[in-house]
Amino acid sequence: MATRSAKSKAVKAAKYKIFDGHNDTLLSIFLPERGKGHTFFERNEVGHIDLPRAREGGFRGGFFAIFTPAYPPHSFMDQMTIKDGGYSVQMEAPLDQAFALKHTLGMMRLLFTLEKQSNGQLKVVRTADELDACLATGSASDGPIAAVAHIEGAEAIDGSLDALYILHAAGLRSLGPVWSRPTIFGYGVPFQYPASPDTGPGLTDAGKRLVKACNELGVLIDLSHINEKGFWDVAELSDAPLVVTHTAAHELCAFTRNITDKQIDAVGASGGIVGVIYGVGNLRRDGNGERTTETPISDIVRHIQYVVDRIGIEHVALGSDFDGTSIPAELGDVAGLPKLTAQLQAAGFDDDALNKLTHANWQRVFRQTWK
Ligand code: ZN
Repeated sequence: MATRSAKSKAVKAAKYKIFDGHNDTLLSIFLPERGKGHTFFERNEVGHIDLPRAREGGFRGGFFAIFTPAYPPHSFMDQMTIKDGGYSVQMEAPLDQAFALKHTLGMMRLLFTLEKQSNGQLKVVRTADELDACLATGSASDGPIAAVAHIEGAEAIDGSLDALYILHAAGLRSLGPVWSRPTIFGYGVPFQYPASPDTGPGLTDAGKRLVKACNELGVLIDLSHINEKGFWDVAELSDAPLVVTHTAAHELCAFTRNITDKQIDAVGASGGIVGVIYGVGNLRRDGNGERTTETPISDIVRHIQYVVDRIGIEHVALGSDFDGTSIPAELGDVAGLPKLTAQLQAAGFDDDALNKLTHANWQRVFRQTWK
């Protein structure tokens, strides 16, 4: 006889296996002053992702960002000028390559250390077969969590691209040529609202060589944070589906970090993916310069619906930015993911659509991109 508690547990358990386009959890663990005690294996009161909460939410994997912050550390919010219903933040300064490489190696080592300590609960995946096998094992709330090693901003790599080849050999499978600052490869967007993502020049010659090398190695190129000319340069040069791992619709929120309808259409036409971010500054029509978290979950649903209506369910996925930005308090953290899938169901997304949105689209694009 089923007990009442077993029954209520079954109802509460996460149903969908979520593979997510972007998190900054490694950075919060790597830099204690940022993470304020954030750990991976115990349940935390701080931050958005740890193993116990991932289990509750059905989080089964994602892009684990390796990001090098400026030194000395500062928040871009401290440098924000708010006026006339908009805001602007001065473009961040470029980073020193040797500093970024040292930091990147430290963060990547942390990822491998967590994998080792996890006794099979966290697995760094390097091939589409490994990813598929990982996600096929267990339910939404158990089975190994699949981590894709991703560098957000390619500052660690110099023009010789030596570091790209070595990092790839170690397990790197995704990179963004830029974060919101210049690199030797291209230019990120400064944080501005309302403003176009067309904020500067396109890829440099080194950037064009980076795209070709990523294609050759089968490293996914993430177009989050790049300015619009850089986006179009990659669209022209790359032979892989276009991917923007954590962004939202510029038409609904005119933030430089969001992508225009034309860019969304190009991603769809390439067979790629728009990962919809949960960042409150990307979601709200008013730009939310103060990053207030009473933004509802329905704002995430609104952006997902918009992109789906434009390019189809095959080309949309989730790209939270957990541990990297302010997200709706209604969602809370990774344990709140079933609230998002419930709202998507209520909005008319069926099981097939939700399987694509929560993981299957990412699996398809990795199979087309990785070698
Ligand atoms: Zn980002």
